[in-house]
Amino acid sequence: MFLNNQENSISLTKSKEKIKLIKPEYFEDTYVLNIKEDKNEYLSCNIVEAFGVIPTADSLIKTNNQVLLALKEMYDNNEYSDLILRRGYLTDKESLAQEVDDHKSGYDVDFFIKGKKWTDFEGHKVADALIKNAYKYGFVLRYPDKHNYQPWHYRYVGPVHAKIMHDEDLTLFRYLDGLNKLATKQIYNVAGTTYRLYVVSKDDIVVPKYYNYFISSLNANKYVITFDTKKTANIKKMTTKKDLVGKNLNELKVLYDLTLVNKDHEIPTELLNNVNLVSLTKYLSDDNNPKYLLDENVLRKLKPLIDKANKLDRHTTYLTSSYRTYKDQKRLYDNGDKKLVQVPNHSEHQTGLAFDIANSYKPNTGFIETYQGMWFKKHAHEYGFILRYPIDKVNITGISNEQWHFRYVGQLNATIMQENNLTLEEYINYFKDDTIYQVSYNNKNYRLYKSSLDSDTIKTFNNADKIYYLKDNSYLSITEK
Ligand SMILES: [Zn+2]
Repeated sequence: MFLNNQENSISLTKSKEKIKLIKPEYFEDTYVLNIKEDKNEYLSCNIVEAFGVIPTADSLIKTNNQVLLALKEMYDNNEYSDLILRRGYLTDKESLAQEVDDHKSGYDVDFFIKGKKWTDFEGHKVADALIKNAYKYGFVLRYPDKHNYQPWHYRYVGPVHAKIMHDEDLTLFRYLDGLNKLATKQIYNVAGTTYRLYVVSKDDIVVPKYYNYFISSLNANKYVITFDTKKTANIKKMTTKKDLVGKNLNELKVLYDLTLVNKDHEIPTELLNNVNLVSLTKYLSDDNNPKYLLDENVLRKLKPLIDKANKLDRHTTYLTSSYRTYKDQKRLYDNGDKKLVQVPNHSEHQTGLAFDIANSYKPNTGFIETYQGMWFKKHAHEYGFILRYPIDKVNITGISNEQWHFRYVGQLNATIMQENNLTLEEYINYFKDDTIYQVSYNNKNYRLYKSSLDSDTIKTFNNADKIYYLKDNSYLSITEK
């Protein structure tokens, strides 16, 4: 029981997922449920242009970045082309002029139907489809009550909350009331889904250990955390030790895509000898990309990702830094802030596997908050890339200022890391020595095995497809079964 009110009770069953403490300064509040503080200016962060992405009434319409991603998904999957976004985010001045407050959130959107007056909304095919299906994309009616019914006004609350409100027929106000009464740190399953939900207090925030999650403030003292337990790549330990053989390392082709380079781990010479540097302009248009260098294999994987990002709206995504020589890094370090710049030979930029990225909407910092950046961050793993220093992992990576730095690690590794919320440091340590792991992904089964170098020999699969050097003389072998 979720609400102590017989008319509005939600059945949530208890769940046991692993959670861990996090420092309050290292998370991002998404504010999706915070309607009491609509009027606060800080809600209006991460606002992006909706114009050019979905049908809008005019070129000035903007929304929160998450909202736009969800709207685009809705327009892509259904026949909503006659549905026009009439109003999204409003500044203080605009909301004063238009006499509405709630649109200051960036999470509130109003629609109208093409060719109709905005008040003539209900009873049309597209409006009925929206009313019925909006929750699937994370939207709920902001004003469903009879006395102030606004069938055109939706609030983005994310798919987990929208699903509960839809299934239990709760208004936003009643739902918030229910969440506020919930015991903290008790994780609940959301019926019929892979979603989980729990409430934490401000001074005791725990987050899921092996999942990506959203934190949204309920009010000044409480947060609600949601996550989806569905994964496309599932890892499990195996009991068999079959097919493992000792092989001489000198006879094997070793890959360096997973090699750890950080403040404690210097870039190995073998990696530098292995990288095949080419100019970006060999694959990307030279209008936006100077003659920077990157490993050719990495650049080939990156091209379709950048090409797709560039088609999302009228802005352009480009790299702002890629391969650096020792000399480049030394010059940056000597002239820069020593707390922010990596010591020479400890920067991923010297590997040719990493780059910094921006776009014309946010030319300096803030790429992952733009619409293209949100999309890029969400899909990078499908092409083998990870955001290397996520903001909630500063205690592990030690780096808080690089929300634009991506690294190539290969598609399977990137997907496991992304879905299990693991940094490269954590991924490498995740595998125990002398244990075989099985991963099912894209209808294929892979086996993974980590071992350490013993004289010149490593233990690996008889037919290993890939052997990666990790760090400190340890290697990860991957074979497709
Ligand atoms: Zn960087």
